[in-house]
Amino acid sequence: MTAKQVASETGRHGRLESTAGTLAGALALALAVLIVAVVSALRFSDGQFGALLGRSVDIGVLREVLFFGMAIAGGLAVANLVQSRGRWLNGATVALILVAVALGGHRVPIADLPAGTPYLGLDRFALNLLGSSLIFIAIEKLSPLRAQAVLRPEWRTDSTYLIVNHLLAGLVLILASFALHDLLGWMVWPPLQTWVGSLPFFAQLLLALLVTDIIQYWTHRAFHEIPFLWRFHAVHHSIEHMDWIAGFRMHLFELTLTRVLFLCALLLMGFDKAAMGAYVVVVGLQTVFNHANLRLPAVFGRAPLKWLIVTPDFHHWHHTVEPAAIDHNYASHFSFLDYLFGTAVKPDRFPDEYGVIGRYVPPGFVRQQLFPFFRKR
Ligand SMILES: [Zn+2]
Ligand SMILES: [Zn+2]
Repeated sequence: MTAKQVASETGRHGRLESTAGTLAGALALALAVLIVAVVSALRFSDGQFGALLGRSVDIGVLREVLFFGMAIAGGLAVANLVQSRGRWLNGATVALILVAVALGGHRVPIADLPAGTPYLGLDRFALNLLGSSLIFIAIEKLSPLRAQAVLRPEWRTDSTYLIVNHLLAGLVLILASFALHDLLGWMVWPPLQTWVGSLPFFAQLLLALLVTDIIQYWTHRAFHEIPFLWRFHAVHHSIEHMDWIAGFRMHLFELTLTRVLFLCALLLMGFDKAAMGAYVVVVGLQTVFNHANLRLPAVFGRAPLKWLIVTPDFHHWHHTVEPAAIDHNYASHFSFLDYLFGTAVKPDRFPDEYGVIGRYVPPGFVRQQLFPFFRKR
């Protein structure tokens, strides 16, 4: 039996069925509604909303996010209209984008940011990116798992993901602050926030990692087991060359949804700024680490460490096409979650081949973003 037959018989890796220009249309409409909301809030709240955002978001990045958001929503709607799909739905989207443009669009005036508003400029962003790239490339060269060129196949695609991934941080903060202020306010429970805030720094950091990894475990598992969600997650699994940059490949829908979930959970629990800052750094490093082309000292593969933390071999098995390991090793920080929930697998070697069984995910950033919305033959 081939691996492909195994996958189709067990139903694993999800099935790809019934498509939706309607889904693309609905997402475009949702995006357009959000954009109009943000632009009007910036325009009509006398600078208060802008000042509020300015404390956590780089306004320059926000403007870029708005610009790309309008382009994506408008583009999807027009593409659907051209193929005469969903006239009312997509007509409404185009109308909303025009309203957003009339209100100022991504150039909407934002009144009086208070002095001292933190600003993470694009120059610093580029410098960070260059610095961390050099460090990770050097580490992989010092202790490589496999001999592999730095510019391996599809490095352009994954570099695009790396950059988009960082730029998206602004959008995630906006969505999370919307969700918190308008939807989840009733969930705030001051005694919990007081308790969390009173914990020492390292306890807060560990708790933040544990809470988000439990959420991550179950959302990740849902992305594997629900066929509609698998379409999106298949993009992450289309990686065939594992290295430090590979882990950034993720569909924007999945990336935004999971990040907003994590951020809402953290903000609701009341972690303080230092713990949140450290948390963001650890998550970024662990994403790189888990996918890296890296051979670690043997101690990481033995108890007790192997029960405790996720290491490259553990997560590499999550990406294999070998049937015995499919739908295993979901955790990203703490491997004991997989042992606890019965989904851990950890042979004493690394897998030979990575990817999606059947290799149906197209190459390239744009085609991968569109892929979940169209039927696969
Ligand atoms: Zn996965
Ligand atoms: Zn991964």
